[in-house]
Amino acid sequence: MKIMKFGGTCLGTEDALRRVAKVVKDEPAEKIVTVSAASGVTNSLKEFVSVPRKEADIDDFLLKLKLRHVDLLPRRDGSSRKEALEMIEKKITKLDRLLYGVTYTEELTPRTYDLMLSAGERLAAIVVAARLSHRKLDAVAMETDALGLVTNNQHFNAVAILSECEKNLKPTLESALSKGMLPVVTGFFGITKNGHVSTFGRSGTDYTASVLAHSMRSGPIEIWKEVDGFMSADPKMVKNAFLIDRLSYEEAAELAYFGAQVLHPRAVQPARLRGIEMVIKNLYDPKSPGTIVGNSRATRKDVIKSVSYVPKVATLKIYDTGAGYKSGFLSDISTCLTNEGINLFSATTSQTCVAVIIDENDVAAAKKAMKTHIAGVGESFEIEDGRALVCAVGEGLGRTKGVAARVFKAVASKDVNVELISAGASTVAYHFTVDQKDLRKTVRAIHKEFFGYV
Ligand code: ASP
Ligand code: MG
Repeated sequence: MKIMKFGGTCLGTEDALRRVAKVVKDEPAEKIVTVSAASGVTNSLKEFVSVPRKEADIDDFLLKLKLRHVDLLPRRDGSSRKEALEMIEKKITKLDRLLYGVTYTEELTPRTYDLMLSAGERLAAIVVAARLSHRKLDAVAMETDALGLVTNNQHFNAVAILSECEKNLKPTLESALSKGMLPVVTGFFGITKNGHVSTFGRSGTDYTASVLAHSMRSGPIEIWKEVDGFMSADPKMVKNAFLIDRLSYEEAAELAYFGAQVLHPRAVQPARLRGIEMVIKNLYDPKSPGTIVGNSRATRKDVIKSVSYVPKVATLKIYDTGAGYKSGFLSDISTCLTNEGINLFSATTSQTCVAVIIDENDVAAAKKAMKTHIAGVGESFEIEDGRALVCAVGEGLGRTKGVAARVFKAVASKDVNVELISAGASTVAYHFTVDQKDLRKTVRAIHKEFFGYV
């Protein structure tokens, strides 16, 4: 059995949806489909609640949202179109109530926010199921909260509780499959034990696909996108960057975490537990083999397979003489930042300072967190923004002599100053920060060193 995941860009237009239907129809294996929201929908939901609204705004917004999805339904199919129209109407009514509630109370809790964000995937599943039914497949839209994709309580970045998921999802999905149905499952969200919708963070549908595969003990997961797969570097920076045919789970996880926008950073984890391969596929070039992510720990002669980056980060330094000996210092810092919803990319420590890398968008929140808590955590702090994070990835990097020397020599030869370095925590990746103005130079220098060209 296969899990086929379709991202937002595969669902945004009639042409894309026709391609999706063809790819699914042409797949001879038994399959489960999972879908993101149509492109732009999650952003529009986020944007709508980002400022105070009037009731009239809600009507306009929902009408546009509804028409966007109605326009994507098959036109000449009486029964599946009619059924889908009714389902869309119901979802819009629910969202309408929710948005009125938010506008009226001027309050948006993480719970409500996640519930609201899940609307995009619910609508997309209805559209895709209708499209597939139109192609004579017995497709049924299914929602992951109703199915029991159970998660922890961390809204926006929820983690699935895999044992519970398997218990809940497997019987229902198996029973549907045995009746010849094709489940079209909502991506991006699950449900907490207390019954609240919880989302997985941006691009979370990749993670849903992996959870489904884990629960069903399925064959490969196909991640359908508008690109071929992981590249040796961003082609916008390195013109001759090329497609990587295979990556280990660890390599893919490091690249995804450090900027390669091909996979959700946590998506490999459930698949890896069961050794299930993930294949990145291009909807616009289905014959391209894409990148296969799996157990293979193949190494390149030159070790490095790809260089990725996060363009805008900041370094937060917390000073305290004796930091190295103070028990709980690191944990206090991380608790203080996590409470403000700030993700820490990485941390390095010394006897006098702990330095953590955060997203540049989190600088204001980090300042606030530090100012509020500095009395308990450290003597003083400093934030350096305008940094970029660069990550070089390849199996064998932890075991091969001279790779770090080559990376940093190549960068130094371009007169770039390397600031914070993290090496050793991962056996397949190094990452370090540089000034944002040096980012392009740095990425190109590493690519040139390990591949011979840019
Ligand atoms: N719709 C969500 C997002 O845009 C989840 C996803 O695309 O997988 O982030
Ligand atoms: Mg999306």
